[in-house]
Amino acid sequence: MSEWISVIAVFWILWAIDGARLAARAIFSVVGGGWWRVGRVAFGRLSRPGWWPWGWRMTMTDVPLTLSPVGVCNRLEGSAGRPTNAPVRAQAWRWEAIRDVGVAKGWLYVNGARFCAATGHVSAPQLLALARLPAMAREKRIRVLLGCWFRPAHLRRRVRVLEGRTQSVMILNGILLASCVLLSVFAAGVIASRLSDRSVERVATILPWFLLGVAAVHFGAVILAWRLVRRLKPVAAEKRRTNLFSALLMPPQAMRLRALLGDGFFPPQHPLAAIVAFGGERALAAWAFNVVADLRWPIGVGDDSPLAREIAGWFRAELEVRIAALVGRANLTTAVLLAPPVADAPASCSYCPRCRDQFVAGWTVCPHGVELRPLRRPQVGRTGAGK
Ligand SMILES: [Zn+2]
Repeated sequence: MSEWISVIAVFWILWAIDGARLAARAIFSVVGGGWWRVGRVAFGRLSRPGWWPWGWRMTMTDVPLTLSPVGVCNRLEGSAGRPTNAPVRAQAWRWEAIRDVGVAKGWLYVNGARFCAATGHVSAPQLLALARLPAMAREKRIRVLLGCWFRPAHLRRRVRVLEGRTQSVMILNGILLASCVLLSVFAAGVIASRLSDRSVERVATILPWFLLGVAAVHFGAVILAWRLVRRLKPVAAEKRRTNLFSALLMPPQAMRLRALLGDGFFPPQHPLAAIVAFGGERALAAWAFNVVADLRWPIGVGDDSPLAREIAGWFRAELEVRIAALVGRANLTTAVLLAPPVADAPASCSYCPRCRDQFVAGWTVCPHGVELRPLRRPQVGRTGAGK
């Protein structure tokens, strides 16, 4: 029966690549579910769901713009991803100058000029509404909007809802996966070669019924998922119905229906909110450091206009307070995150507080233009070195 090998191989390749997406720019993927409560956090253009039917996936992007009571700018501040998806040239608008905001091909346009990626953190109507508000109400509204990006409890709640409602789909997916593994092992000839003629005969009579059962489980799971699409209201862009239709025709793409149903179900937030909610301690410390360092030592902003700088300054101050509160829930402080590292070589005497690279004597700024700081020396019990 080993002529089935190529069919089995194609089936499992389709299964392995199911749900993988190549985004236009690097994004965060937080994948969780199952017995362990710590999710996997990845940053890159390729986003992959978990392997098993109980997994869900949440994708987040850095906030692509800065807001202030004065105006709006497409500079990225408080970015967790490295390297950042920052624009080469900052574009800033005063609120009074904004006449129209539109979306096309995944980009936000302000007054007809391409502004920033449409990530959902601020929608085009929201931006236009902000521009039309009176100054006092606008500042209040911006603060409310910023608050919406830092709600880990809300993300956890939505995960609980998704897990609860997709319980039966997940069980059917589990049965389907186990059946497909069994069929593959059998069709590959591993088991058949060890069976007696009589047993092979008996298997041959059961097989059609077994296949019928597998097909019933497959269709049942997809139909159940289809009915859930309406109950799990999306809050972001999604293509669940199209994906479900393709899953109906291609069983290897129908074994992660929970992840499929989670598409568009999670509101866009700051990536750190998702990492606080689901990531482990080490992941949180690493990504939180990136955010805090980006807020303290922004790079590539030398040519920004005074307006862009003013907007960014207000935004950074606002974000820093929120980030401190967010990481504070995980017993982290910005002081701990930014503590100087210990020298990694005897010749190292300074480090870049943003990228953490260490430098020997003679350097005063890192290649990104960030001023270097003295390193922490390991305790040697003699006269204290450094400052
Ligand atoms: Zn540096």
